[in-house]
Amino acid sequence: MSASGTSPNLRLPSIDSLLRHPACQPLTERYGRDALLATLRQLLDELREAVQQGLVQAIEVSPEVLAGRVGERLQVQHRSHVRRVFNLTGTVLHTNLGRALLPDEAIDAVQLAARYPLNLEFDLHSGKRGDRDDLIEGLIRELTGAEAVTVVNNNAAAVLLTLNSLGARKEGIISRGELIEIGGAFRIPDIMARAGVKLHEVGTTNRTHAKDYEAAIGPRSGLIMRVHASNYSIQGFTTSVPTAELAHLAHQHGLPLLEDLGSGSLLDLTRWGLPAEPTVRQALLDGADIVTFSGDKLLGGPQAGLIVGRKDLIGKIKKNPLKRALRVDKLTLAALEAVLGLYRNPDRLAERLPSLRLLTRSRADILAQAERLQPSLAFRLGDGWSVSALPALGMIGSGSQPVARLPSAALCLRPNTSKRLRGRSLLDLEAALRGLPIPVLGRIDDDALWLDLRQLDDESAWLAQLEHLRVEGRAG
Ligand SMILES: *Cc1c(COP(=O)(O)O)cnc(C)c1O
Repeated sequence: MSASGTSPNLRLPSIDSLLRHPACQPLTERYGRDALLATLRQLLDELREAVQQGLVQAIEVSPEVLAGRVGERLQVQHRSHVRRVFNLTGTVLHTNLGRALLPDEAIDAVQLAARYPLNLEFDLHSGKRGDRDDLIEGLIRELTGAEAVTVVNNNAAAVLLTLNSLGARKEGIISRGELIEIGGAFRIPDIMARAGVKLHEVGTTNRTHAKDYEAAIGPRSGLIMRVHASNYSIQGFTTSVPTAELAHLAHQHGLPLLEDLGSGSLLDLTRWGLPAEPTVRQALLDGADIVTFSGDKLLGGPQAGLIVGRKDLIGKIKKNPLKRALRVDKLTLAALEAVLGLYRNPDRLAERLPSLRLLTRSRADILAQAERLQPSLAFRLGDGWSVSALPALGMIGSGSQPVARLPSAALCLRPNTSKRLRGRSLLDLEAALRGLPIPVLGRIDDDALWLDLRQLDDESAWLAQLEHLRVEGRAG
């Protein structure tokens, strides 16, 4: 390796000497020799030309500094792809960000189930084989009034399995106003088709009457379905048939009524000042034969699909071979049982269940937090930005109450740039926040970046990483 130019004596250390150097030992330990070797080679190749041109100082090619740089690269390369983020989007149950956060009780239960063998399908009383649904059946029956229960991977699976078990090769009657698409390509007509149920749509988008259902009932009918219109709302001149009336009609003709509640709350949320959502218990009391709902929406638990209702129908569902393909794992069941356990004491639920605690935070509390954090962020962003603590409106998310807004508060970040540059500045800042060690996700609206603080629990971790925030000043 020839040294030339202004640093005639400077040479890159050899790979061998670096591999043997004490500064590299911890890296070999941690990442293995092969990964270290490859990254060292890459770094030295990059430096070679600059060294030859005399653009590099001796200190920059010392083993300690090189080891430090290689260590940083290895750390990024080996970083987990599953990353924690700060969800400051204002949407609490954000499907793309993992929906509900589990309470400590559920995290402990998951740890236990992950670490040790357990009675997943084993009846400790009789010593015989058990059924994994038995682990949560008692609790769900208690909390919903259902006769029987089964659990699958998510609510989409619950709907698919129920339709296939009860309506295959027959017609499923459903209102045109309920033929919805839920994010991630879940469309009721497609699921029905895949379940082998022939779609028989009735009524119109905005109005469906009992007589529409009645006219559709015939020898090929297998079931009546109703779907909670989760992620949109029809307002104005609308009619739908109440569950109780529809159940009565279905039962007169010997048909089961399925109700896909989507979020399906176990308790009346209005007691916490939240918008009313239909409860599972009420749907069953109204006469729905089977109700399906998600575990990780308003329930606040792990991803799961709960199927509750009539014992004979649940029996049929459990015998379907698809149930085996869609069954939940032990970690989910462990978490679900722990979350359901918290519902036994509704008075303390809002403190103990993270989703409910976050949903019920008051605007005053969030605004006070925004005011507290405003100076640090304003200082960090400098002259190019105006940072203010303002009231904002958030959402529950995951299709619960699409129109209702949660009174919240946010840090509003507005670029002090000419209108022409504003869009660019906002995207740059958004990217910089996303690039932080714990990525911060907000939302751009009205020429500003909004960080809704409803979900900012860990204020000190958030503040601590602000020093890594690099934004180019684009003032003027
Ligand atoms: C969310 C939702 C689903 C899908 O539930 P996942 O648990 O996400 O699979 C199905 N139906 C309705 C009405 C929903 O709101």
